[in-house]
Amino acid sequence: MPELPYGSLPVPATPVWQLKGWLLDIQCSRCRRHTVLHVSDLVDRYSPEASVSEVVRRLRCGGFRGDNKCRAKPSRVNLVEVSYHGKSWRKLREVVVVDVQAGQLAAMPKD
Ligand SMILES: [Zn+2]
Repeated sequence: MPELPYGSLPVPATPVWQLKGWLLDIQCSRCRRHTVLHVSDLVDRYSPEASVSEVVRRLRCGGFRGDNKCRAKPSRVNLVEVSYHGKSWRKLREVVVVDVQAGQLAAMPKD
């Protein structure tokens, strides 16, 4: 199966298996907790055919507020393509998936 072609950016309909080298950079809308998830972990948790927008719609905050989990939706989600150098990584490309302030799912490029 081909990976995401070089030079093209993911869109909401992109299946997550094409984005195994990418991270999701997430900020919670309620507690402002910042989380980074590896897309490859999401492929295991969901189905590889799940699209970026399906996975992002199901994301909930895993932070704790007192005794209860926050479980709020993210206010901001970026997809970040990274290149690893030992334990450190650097950003190659970054795409905004959700930015509530800027108006929901508007910033991703159309395919
Ligand atoms: Zn939260």
